[in-house]
Amino acid sequence: MSGGKRIVGNTAIAEAVETAKMPAAPREAFLGLVPVDARLELTKATWLRSLLRSRWTTFVPTALNLFLFLVILAAGVVGTPVGNANIAIVFIWILWWSALMLVLVPFASRLWCGMCPLPVLGEWVQRFSIVKRRWHRPLGLSLKWPKKLRSMWLVNVVFLGVAAFSGIITTRPWATVALLGSIMILGTALFLVYERRTFCRYLCPVGGFLGLYANFAAIEIRPRSQPVCVGHKSKECILGSMAGHGCPWLEQPTSLKRNTYCGLCFECFRCCSHDNMGLFARPFGTDLLVDSHRGLDESWKAFIMLGAAGVYSATMMGPWGTLKDMANLRSLGGWALFAGGLIALLAGVLPAVHGATAWLSWRLAGRTVPFRRVFTNFTYHLVPIGLLAWIGFSFAILLPNGSYVIRIISDPFGWGWNLFGTAHFAWTPVLTSWMPALQAAALLFGFVYSVDVARKIARQTFPAPAAAARAVLPQIVLLAGITAAFLWLFVG
Ligand code: SF4
Ligand code: SF4
Repeated sequence: MSGGKRIVGNTAIAEAVETAKMPAAPREAFLGLVPVDARLELTKATWLRSLLRSRWTTFVPTALNLFLFLVILAAGVVGTPVGNANIAIVFIWILWWSALMLVLVPFASRLWCGMCPLPVLGEWVQRFSIVKRRWHRPLGLSLKWPKKLRSMWLVNVVFLGVAAFSGIITTRPWATVALLGSIMILGTALFLVYERRTFCRYLCPVGGFLGLYANFAAIEIRPRSQPVCVGHKSKECILGSMAGHGCPWLEQPTSLKRNTYCGLCFECFRCCSHDNMGLFARPFGTDLLVDSHRGLDESWKAFIMLGAAGVYSATMMGPWGTLKDMANLRSLGGWALFAGGLIALLAGVLPAVHGATAWLSWRLAGRTVPFRRVFTNFTYHLVPIGLLAWIGFSFAILLPNGSYVIRIISDPFGWGWNLFGTAHFAWTPVLTSWMPALQAAALLFGFVYSVDVARKIARQTFPAPAAAARAVLPQIVLLAGITAAFLWLFVG
């Protein structure tokens, strides 16, 4: 018996020695260059930490945005109906949308949500406060959102509805105002019925695409030390304290794994008595590899966003005047055809194409996992190519039309004002000769990144390396097809 024990002990020691001699497994890296787990804590800088803990850091940009949006709403009602002479169209669809796609989402996740003016009136009423944290019972009913609706499905439906009217919303100031005004009114009303930022999380059409693409972003908010959180029973980041509100987005900051529903409001920084929350820089696309909380609602969000980039590009930049007329509501029948086609393409045809590709992957890999898991997992590599397609689209909006911004700040309503002396600034396209190259570069980067993410997801889904290698092939073909289609739309 003792000999047996000695043998077991010796074996264990021998295994331990062998393990110690084995080279460490290589750290998985994006594009073979940046380790997936690489992190740089930005809030090690005490000035940034202090800035994020201040309530004014959120209030000041939100108040400025609120002022700007109120001007935009007024311009939509009383300003000129000429789209490119009205701040409502120029600021929202040229400046704001491009800024979201080109800078805010890829580099700053949902930072926009933290300074968004659309829900803020409701939030101020609910909190019974504008800047200071008041220990006051929330005004309103503070109901919980129904469990069955806790997903992105409603956001998808609302986004499809908005996309069907895209031709009108992006050209008529009154339509832009109708959209923004409805979001503001509905948002405010729902803040009085449901708890915290239920509206932003489960209904806002802007929040939906920001949420999915925020998983690609190069920053994240996470606890600095898990053991500190585990040992801290009062969980101020969830429940709130005198210093700040419990997470308005109904997240548990202590166990955040993905950016989807973190609105970068920094309340958890303010609440935490252990100063344990941090802002980290990280490689692009990290959250796309998190193998939990994935769902079909997010898969459909990926299809809808990818398809919308294609339809908008074809409608606004393509040579098909008939399509533009249909989207622009030249005739009711034409518009109905456009809206029906758009919804069928985004919510039906694209998922079917993806389903066929996922089925091929599943078959090639030997059907060792449920098909649904393959279908869902393989939608997350559509995020890099989708976001980069939107970036390519944004170049086409911003570079030719960005100069309208200079003119419009002097004459926001198109009434002939000249507030800052720039009202007569001539329309000046910028770098438009570079545009095809920029768009092609964006798409190729998106393709390469998507393939890299697809390979990693394949290995996650099918642990056997050979099966994973076979499973990824149809996905690469699909990604190549998507890239070729956008290249044709942009530069073809
Ligand atoms: S309050 Fe701070 S330490 Fe406590 S659980 Fe939240 S993040 Fe962790
Ligand atoms: S985890 Fe919650 S409280 Fe913290 S920044 Fe994100 S949304 Fe705000």
